[in-house]
Amino acid sequence: MNINGLQKLTLLDYPGKVACTVFLAGCNLRCPFCHNSELLDASAETVMDDAGLLDFLKKRRGMLDGVAFTGGEPLLRPELPELLRRVRALGYAVKLDTNGMFPAALERVLAADLVDYTAMDIKNSPDRYAETCGADTVDMEKIRASIDLLRSGAADYEFRTTVVSELHDEASFAAIGPMIEGAKRYFLQPFKDRETVAFAGFHAPDAAALQRYAEIVRPFVGTVEVRGGE
Ligand code: SF4
Repeated sequence: MNINGLQKLTLLDYPGKVACTVFLAGCNLRCPFCHNSELLDASAETVMDDAGLLDFLKKRRGMLDGVAFTGGEPLLRPELPELLRRVRALGYAVKLDTNGMFPAALERVLAADLVDYTAMDIKNSPDRYAETCGADTVDMEKIRASIDLLRSGAADYEFRTTVVSELHDEASFAAIGPMIEGAKRYFLQPFKDRETVAFAGFHAPDAAALQRYAEIVRPFVGTVEVRGGE
């Protein structure tokens, strides 16, 4: 299996763990604010294969305790469950980032107990979801199915939104709150511009706006926080 990037140490990507981050290229969406635009095409450069990753993890046992899988969209890879199984067999906790468009694949890895922590994007309110994903249409039933799976499952999770001034306003969060009602944890992450963001012209909301948006969601979710941008 092709691995398209490896950050050997992160204290940010996996809450509460000293982790590394594994990047798997290929995504079905084209969010215009995406900060991994070089990883959207599945033919992106490969840095190692799964054997190389497992060798790295064997050597880091005792120094790292978690592995965060991100993309792209990791659930697009049919070989992902087997890789997760082998990573967990080495004693690592596994975090999975997903855009929520593949509830059947998500259910498979959760049912097989291959993921300890899932972070799912909630891109926007249903009426602006497709625009925010750079798509003509988005099947909101798939998003809702993934939300339901995480809310009702045993494994830990978070929902999160990258907040962009040009894409989000109060109405966005007034709709997101009910979508994830009863969830454990929700984070608002202000957009951060980087060289790898393909589309120019987006901005982060100011701190006051972010707090206002957080207040709108707070009645629906256990914990709502604003955290540093990604
Ligand atoms: S789902 Fe994630 S990886 Fe895919 S385009 Fe959107 S932000 Fe980028």
